Amino acid sequence: MAADRLVCPTCGREHPASERFCETCRMPLVQIAGAERAVSRRRLRARKIKPEYSEGALVKVARADSQPEAEFIEGLLLEEGIPCMLRRSAGFDVPEVLAAGPRDVLVPESGAQAAREALAWEQP
Ligand SMILES: [Zn+2]
Repeated sequence: MAADRLVCPTCGREHPASERFCETCRMPLVQIAGAERAVSRRRLRARKIKPEYSEGALVKVARADSQPEAEFIEGLLLEEGIPCMLRRSAGFDVPEVLAAGPRDVLVPESGAQAAREALAWEQP
């Protein structure tokens, strides 16, 4: 059961339940279940991204109505190994809507085709 394994929130190394601190980072260990959230998103990204999808100029593959929706799309793309960048849609970069305005989802050109396929099911 996952509950008796511990993981370092910094480097992601697993440790037996008898340990309290990461032997590498000296960070207090956390249970696996909580660690998925604790490990930095950037680190997770770096692990999943496929280099062949990381080349070329950024192209827009989708538009989201809000930051949460944009992050949902970002998650879908990362599952496919496609890095992406979220950018406020043009014309909405005024302070009142910084948090809520629509977002463009951009990916490197070499990943655009795969990204469009990954998202195809949710486009009208
Ligand atoms: Zn560590």
